[in-house]
Amino acid sequence: MSDQSRLDSTPAGKVWNFILLGAPGVGKGTQAELLTKRFGAVQLSTGEVFRAAKKLPVSEQTPAIKEAISYMQAGNLVPDSTVVAIVREKLHCPELHRGLLLDGFPRTVPQAEALSDILNTENIPLDAVLSYELPIEQVLERLGGRRTCPKCGASFHIKDRQPRVKGICDQCGTELIQRDDDRPEAIRVRLETYDRKTAPLIEYYQKKGLLIRVECGETPQETFARTLQALKLA
Ligand code: AMP
Repeated sequence: MSDQSRLDSTPAGKVWNFILLGAPGVGKGTQAELLTKRFGAVQLSTGEVFRAAKKLPVSEQTPAIKEAISYMQAGNLVPDSTVVAIVREKLHCPELHRGLLLDGFPRTVPQAEALSDILNTENIPLDAVLSYELPIEQVLERLGGRRTCPKCGASFHIKDRQPRVKGICDQCGTELIQRDDDRPEAIRVRLETYDRKTAPLIEYYQKKGLLIRVECGETPQETFARTLQALKLA
């Protein structure tokens, strides 16, 4: 059966367990929010876990977290063992009967293999891996123009998703910043790392019959509509 036709017989009211794949800047985080609202699933974004850890007082950061933050700031991947340990702990959670949405994990083949073991142990069947696709020039423009709220995590863009007041978060009024890893040098490292370590996951999940490709649209809503179509839910 093809990856898409597998979805033809999806029962109504089904609980969904997804992975979102895609280069940094394609808008996975926004799609994760929209999907979470629609399906009520538990969202786990490993990038958010590290950004939240970075805000903790240094005295509360474990050595593994301090090391992870230094990798993140340079645009490099955090070591597999650290990320897998965090995900293993977070996925041991009764809330997961609502479904699961993984954003930013797995990022390497060893992480995908570890995830497969964790999901088996927790009895969570994976339904689909959504792979978001966008031409590289647009990825660069989106990442370079992204501005983020350091308090609530809301994301804006200097051209395409401007806040109501320039430089200020619409949701909580905090001054927006450019993430360390959205600066040009870190962007270059992140995209190279994506090609080398994460892009092989597309073939990995395709072979397992789980991959669903979604071409990103002009707006998050357009991409979301395409996602629902690809899942045969629209
Ligand atoms: P993201 O917000 O998903 O782009 O993640 C921000 C940063 O957190 C990445 O550039 C990595 O440094 C780190 N990170 C997030 N998820 C992972 C992962 N699955 N494996 C390794 N590093 C990760």
